[in-house]
Amino acid sequence: MTRRRGGATIGAVDADVVVVGAGAVGLACAAELSRAGLSVVVAERHASPGQETSSRNSQVLHAGIYYPAGSRKADLCVRGNRSLSAFCEAHGVPFRRIGKWLLAVGPDEEKRLDEVVAGGRANGVDLERVPLARFREEEPHVRAVAAVLSPSTGILDVHGLFRALRVLAEERGASFAFRHELRRAARVPGGYELAFADPSGGEARLTASFVVNAAGLDADTVAALPGLDVDAAGYRLTWTKGSYFRIRGGRRHLAGRLLYPVVPVGYGSVLGIHLTIDLDGELKLGPDVEVLTGRRQDYAVDESRRDTFLEAARRYLPSLEPDDLSPDQSGIRARLQAIGAPFRDFVLAEESERGLPGWVNLVGIESPGLTSCLEIAREVRSLLER
Ligand SMILES: Cc1cc2nc3c(=O)[nH]c(=O)nc-3n(C[C@H](O)[C@H](O)[C@H](O)COP(=O)(O)OP(=O)(O)OC[C@H]3O[C@@H](n4cnc5c(N)ncnc54)[C@H](O)[C@@H]3O)c2cc1C
Repeated sequence: MTRRRGGATIGAVDADVVVVGAGAVGLACAAELSRAGLSVVVAERHASPGQETSSRNSQVLHAGIYYPAGSRKADLCVRGNRSLSAFCEAHGVPFRRIGKWLLAVGPDEEKRLDEVVAGGRANGVDLERVPLARFREEEPHVRAVAAVLSPSTGILDVHGLFRALRVLAEERGASFAFRHELRRAARVPGGYELAFADPSGGEARLTASFVVNAAGLDADTVAALPGLDVDAAGYRLTWTKGSYFRIRGGRRHLAGRLLYPVVPVGYGSVLGIHLTIDLDGELKLGPDVEVLTGRRQDYAVDESRRDTFLEAARRYLPSLEPDDLSPDQSGIRARLQAIGAPFRDFVLAEESERGLPGWVNLVGIESPGLTSCLEIAREVRSLLER
């Protein structure tokens, strides 16, 4: 790799790396690759970082419980839990290791709870079976027949994370081109020529030796730009919306930690309607699962889903009333597999074998992508160094 500092800007013709997308993953890649001494330009279609999935999630630092042993999701999540919490502490990003309860709500769910715990422990996650008496003392408003504590689960402030990563990347010479959307890409000698729709309505061009596609929901569209066959590669994404309902402030005492009832096998790696708590102490239910047929980023939360949320949450929070719930945010998952289909791992691929040397695709970065962002960036660096 050539090593240069200073940061090229759009309109110039030279950068070592263009990172497409300034979500958590693109920002982490910019910080990591600029640390390696590369000149980095981050191109983002919005006016600021993290406007899509990275700020429309549960803000949970996952422990790494649910993913198959040996998978990238398990490995990067377990490592990411450690590295991202250390990063938050070192860079003043608000973060709290609040812990979460895995719950068997009915007796028929205890076996499933045991399976989930065995899977988590196989990934090296610390999980503690807590006697029911202690659980009931800690969580008097929660109904369960068995509870397991995940002490390493945390919550963080994603906007604080975006700020810290951007500052680091800029200090190391990276530059940001906001309101630039990548529209075309062509392989040229020594790299790629990229064409962006710019804020003036015109087109900006940039040549780079390496491209990192961290385009989240549109990672498959961006992967196709230099001529890659997305269907043959298995990179086609389906969009699955997840909505949240907020629990009114007067009921914050209902839970002291995150609550995740276990869900049956085959639920498509989606974790059921659980309860999360943010750093302000606000309780939220969700996300649910709604498969989108088109590709429109419609984040409106449908109020009529309230009854479904209430019914699901009352299993473990029986005192909830309809008036306690109001619509909150939603986010869209970039999934490589349909709901209920077999597990698919994150795609982190340097595409030399498909005739695109130096082009890295990051596709299907759904949960635990936020937790894993620093580790994904380290993997990208080693892919490029190879
Ligand atoms: C409902 C929900 C809850 C979740 N909860 C958690 C959680 O608690 N913990 C966890 O670890 N993970 C969670 N996740 C997953 C996590 O949010 C994602 O894995 C992560 O945010 C992905 O980050 P990203 O940078 O890849 O994508 P994004 O944040 O989507 O960033 C991609 C960026 O690329 C830009 N872009 C796209 N195309 C172009 C283009 N052509 N040109 C320029 N820019 C472009 C977009 O504007 C966007 O800013 C959740 C996801 C959802 C949907």
